[in-house]
Amino acid sequence: MSMQVLDPELASVVWWGTHTLRVRAHAARGASLCPTRFAPYGHADPLAQQANLRCWEDGCMGIVHSIYAATSDRLARRAGSDRQAVADRMRYARTVVASQVAELDRGRRVARGLPARPTRNDGIAGRINEALDAAAAGPTEARWLVQLFRMIRGYVCRDNRTSTTWPTDAWAAEKCRADGGVRGLGTDAVRQEILDDIHTVLSEAQRVAGRAWVNVSILHPLMSVVGPLTDEFAQQLPSSDPDPAEQALLRQFMTRYAAYRRRGQHPAGAFRTASLEVFGQEPSGDLRDVIVDLESGLVG
Ligand SMILES: [Zn+2]
Repeated sequence: MSMQVLDPELASVVWWGTHTLRVRAHAARGASLCPTRFAPYGHADPLAQQANLRCWEDGCMGIVHSIYAATSDRLARRAGSDRQAVADRMRYARTVVASQVAELDRGRRVARGLPARPTRNDGIAGRINEALDAAAAGPTEARWLVQLFRMIRGYVCRDNRTSTTWPTDAWAAEKCRADGGVRGLGTDAVRQEILDDIHTVLSEAQRVAGRAWVNVSILHPLMSVVGPLTDEFAQQLPSSDPDPAEQALLRQFMTRYAAYRRRGQHPAGAFRTASLEVFGQEPSGDLRDVIVDLESGLVG
């Protein structure tokens, strides 16, 4: 069996670009950190022999493999048609990895029945923004309430929350940035101020969109979607759409992978089978061999 080494630069881009997703995958299994120190398949560990066993078990490596496969596939397709992309391959790879990560994130959100893009500002959210604008005492407050509304929607849909309460201290810090005010963070008065702002936002939302919308879009997710761990809560999804063909491929890959896992295949086997089906003869072929060898070494 061939043991071709993966592109170490691309592997590093994928490793660091998937950090947030991978930490969440570990968190869902009770680990607070990713225990692997060096990027698997990167310069320091070309055969991923130093990847921690937990990374294979918790789905961390599964994320790396699926994003690597999708990214290298996309790069290969792009390389045939665009010389500039080849010249600036790693920069392009970073963009692709980011869009793949966002897509994977969206896919998981939708799978849990949550909106794919909770922070978008059109439709009902746009009308609520207009109402917040009108209700505010001035432009600075209007900007803050719109920002808060966006953060509220993002927060309730995050799948790494540990709490069903609002992050008033973090949002107070955001408010200081937004209006230049000086506040004693963590004090009861400031926490109450933020809770009052949240109340204002939700009241306007209810007035414009109705109680059912607020329940379904904000309060129900807040109370019911709680996962372990945390990272920066304010991270927003990119607004640009990934390539639809790429989305379809990745979705297809994830679906096949999940199906083979359900049928009892171990991660590498499921990855290999799904890759064969979805990515065919693309460079991910090298990846499959490496994974199979590594996996047999781990379990054997
Ligand atoms: Zn890991």
